[in-house]
Amino acid sequence: MSLKLEKTLVILKPDALQRNLLGEIIARFEKKGLKIVGLKMIELEDVLLDEHYGHYKDKPFFAGLKNYMKSSPVIVMALEGIEIVEAVRLLVGPTKGRIADAGSIRGDYSMSVQTNIIHASDSSANAEAEIKRFFKDDELFNYKKIDFEFLYGDEERSELV
Ligand code: UDP
Ligand code: MG
Repeated sequence: MSLKLEKTLVILKPDALQRNLLGEIIARFEKKGLKIVGLKMIELEDVLLDEHYGHYKDKPFFAGLKNYMKSSPVIVMALEGIEIVEAVRLLVGPTKGRIADAGSIRGDYSMSVQTNIIHASDSSANAEAEIKRFFKDDELFNYKKIDFEFLYGDEERSELV
């Protein structure tokens, strides 16, 4: 079996910033062992949001979702690891914060469907497209991290392609 290091995109939404949760959420990713390969603060604009949430443009919540996402700056992060898309979705929890498992980010910090703290890519293909959407090539970093050999076992490291 072969394994691949993949990347995923996370957005810390305006409510995470306003509720002073940025540091705590970033710390959770660090402690889990996810490698931060990109991180910046940006203001989202219509063009980017229409692309990012375009598949919801006919939904009744679309306008409200866009206003919410523009209400404060956001933090966008690109994270790297083995099977990371799935791992981050598990850390994040389901969309509706009030029924998300305790221990997940939404389960611990959100009571809402809309203001649910965080976005995370839901598939490898979407992660790739979303990272391209939010980061220029020179905003993504390829560097050696010293915990790598303890984060993954020798079998996993030998299966990496
Ligand atoms: N959303 C909303 N109302 C809804 C469903 C979703 O405002 O009824 C927002 C919410 O912020 C959610 C985002 O739209 O995170 C994207 O929805 P999706 O179903 O893709 O949820 P996610 O993948 O973020 O869990
Ligand atoms: Mg989604």
